[in-house]
Amino acid sequence: MLRNKKMITKKKKSKPKCKGHYWTIKADPERLKDFIKRTQVSVKAWRARNPEKVRAQRIVFVAVRNGSLIRQQCFCGKKRTEAHHEDYTQCLNVVWLCKRHHAEADKLRRNGVKRYPHLSTCK
Ligand SMILES: [Zn+2]
Repeated sequence: MLRNKKMITKKKKSKPKCKGHYWTIKADPERLKDFIKRTQVSVKAWRARNPEKVRAQRIVFVAVRNGSLIRQQCFCGKKRTEAHHEDYTQCLNVVWLCKRHHAEADKLRRNGVKRYPHLSTCK
């Protein structure tokens, strides 16, 4: 009992959780406006630089929406997944990966490695 009470009081004294950079920006309307503007500019620039990626993403989005492509879970078991393209010319040939494994797979592809036995396993 005593131990539990001590633990509870300790929890109350601990610092509040950091809400992250975005939340500090969101609290200030001026900074939020500036943040949105800068994000839109960078997204537009990325889209202009990578038309084949934009095309592939759109085709996958439409295919998932109309049911011709079914979202699957990552090999680690996570159900919230993203479509990973090995080759952007084959738009519907995707591997479903969670956010973490997608980032790792993209890094491997940039380094010229194909396939994913190298990916770490999620905890
Ligand atoms: Zn995963």
